[in-house]
Amino acid sequence: MSYNTDNIFAKILRGEIPCDKVYEDDYALAFNDISPQAPVHVLIIPKGAYISFDDFSSTASAEEMSGFYQAVQKVATQLGLQQNGYRVLSNMGADAHQEVPHYHLHLFAGCDLGRMVKAGLV
Ligand code: AMP
Repeated sequence: MSYNTDNIFAKILRGEIPCDKVYEDDYALAFNDISPQAPVHVLIIPKGAYISFDDFSSTASAEEMSGFYQAVQKVATQLGLQQNGYRVLSNMGADAHQEVPHYHLHLFAGCDLGRMVKAGLV
């Protein structure tokens, strides 16, 4: 599977469609999810063209990876989430219901987030 440059997050990165920006640096862009699943629901995406966690983790440079993950922590700090906590999640592929084929992390916070996955899977 190759990277599809028509995906919605690629269009956001190119400025072709708007986003509700929370944070940006050389490595990452963070914006509010259009359909929030928690009081705080921010998406953090790398600037580079990576399809998924798997793609990013196996092919991005060390600089891109450290820059990206430091950006995630900066977003959490900027939003003041350390005290009550937050959850970082990435969907990879079909079983995880990944909808947008540009690597992204979901940052959830602002309430008790409950279980990690739906009950009854095992
Ligand atoms: P995933 O299932 O992990 O690929 O999640 C994709 C997420 O992108 C979903 O939570 C969507 O609500 C969100 N999303 C899709 N389009 C946009 C958009 N234009 N701006 C912000 N969030 C979006």
